[in-house]
Amino acid sequence: MTKSSNATFLDSVNRNFDRAAAYTEIPQGILQQIKACNAVYEIRFPVRIGDKIEVIEAYRAQHSHHRMPTKGGIRYNENVDKEEVEALAALMTYKCAIVDVPFGGAKGGVKINPKEYTEDQLERITRRYTTELIRKNFIGPGIDVPAPDYGTGPREMAWIYDTYLTFKGGDIDAAGCVTGKPVSQNGIRGRNEATGRGVFYGLRELCDTGDAMKKLGLEKGLKGKKVVIQGLGNVGSFTGSIMQNEGDITIIAVSEYEGSIYSDKGIHIEELMAYRKNTGSILGFPGTTNLPNKEAALELECDILIPAALENQITADNAPRIKAKIIGEAANGPVTADAEAMLNKAGIIIVPDMFLNAGGVTVSYFEWLKNLSHMRFGRMEKRFDSNTYSNFVGLIEKMTAKQIGDREREFLTRGADEIDLVRSGLEETMVTSFQQIWETYKTKKDIDGLRSAAFVCALEKISNDYSSLGIFP
Ligand code: GLU
Repeated sequence: MTKSSNATFLDSVNRNFDRAAAYTEIPQGILQQIKACNAVYEIRFPVRIGDKIEVIEAYRAQHSHHRMPTKGGIRYNENVDKEEVEALAALMTYKCAIVDVPFGGAKGGVKINPKEYTEDQLERITRRYTTELIRKNFIGPGIDVPAPDYGTGPREMAWIYDTYLTFKGGDIDAAGCVTGKPVSQNGIRGRNEATGRGVFYGLRELCDTGDAMKKLGLEKGLKGKKVVIQGLGNVGSFTGSIMQNEGDITIIAVSEYEGSIYSDKGIHIEELMAYRKNTGSILGFPGTTNLPNKEAALELECDILIPAALENQITADNAPRIKAKIIGEAANGPVTADAEAMLNKAGIIIVPDMFLNAGGVTVSYFEWLKNLSHMRFGRMEKRFDSNTYSNFVGLIEKMTAKQIGDREREFLTRGADEIDLVRSGLEETMVTSFQQIWETYKTKKDIDGLRSAAFVCALEKISNDYSSLGIFP
């Protein structure tokens, strides 16, 4: 990706904003304030790599302070620049508003290819980056809370947390300075799978919506839908395996750096991941055919195409060849604004990133709440609930003079663990948000698609936070 494609990305986000803003009554000044990126910290810092000093370029953009703290991941990628983090930070603002996560949007980026560094070097880069954020007050549980993004994960979050703690040991809420931490280090169960699981709940809702399926000429329900996935990183792999295990879909093609593969019988994602780990490639996976190139998978006939890699994957160039009925944006910004206009015209339903991949930040919010409350979810009520259910079961047995089997008893009398509560909170969030977006889509006359509807929901919520300015009632 070149610099100009990051400009395309930021431009797409802003054009999508303008298109949706026209469906609202929000005054221009408020719209300008919502759209503007509030602050960007651009950093260059030295890190010793081998026997040389390398100057690392990095960013943290805080798009909106209408709610605090600001929130968003940190990306490690060679193509990071100011425009990209600004675009991603803006998406975070809208995303948080859509799923009622009370944060402003932010995003960080370090312009490196993490594969070119040792673990030790990555740790030094991460710790130095965190130190720079601390120096400028760009991180903290009430200020700005990073999380994983492309090229980072729980390991990096643990380094960030530990660095923060070194400087701010007296801060009782220090663990809330970053989310996506390992469970053993104040993380939360279910965060790692959260974005993929959210994609599953979001697409399941759409496929259960009769009007939508009728429009596409598809059967109601996720079961048996033919799916193509681009990208097997954290989001793509969890999306694939959860949709396969719990949604009974058929994954007919997968695309990665090295190429793409196809099978009309279905590709088992967990087995494919194991195969790739052994061979270094998805190509040649037993039972599949290699397609001519990695782009070919996107252009296959299918029910749902899930881009789960990076931005700008579906552009005006390949949009005319897309034959999917639904595009589920698991990645941020995979469809450009130009492509979207063409796809909307072709009757394809695009489920927008700012809703569909919001599962990650939703569970980040749960993690942050856990950190501030200093207690695991379920700790207080699990056994109390379990005992109450046992009493019920006992009563039923007494009244019916019948014994309930051991397996049923276990199922009926279980109190909720942290993972149960996290999944339930995530499901509730995705279902409720989908209903809000669908309702807006149905009621706003001539609205062009679900992205504009999602934007309208977000803009209306954010503008309410500016009512204290006295301009907007
Ligand atoms: N990087 C993820 C995203 O783009 C997660 C952000 C977070 O959890 O704060 O939504």
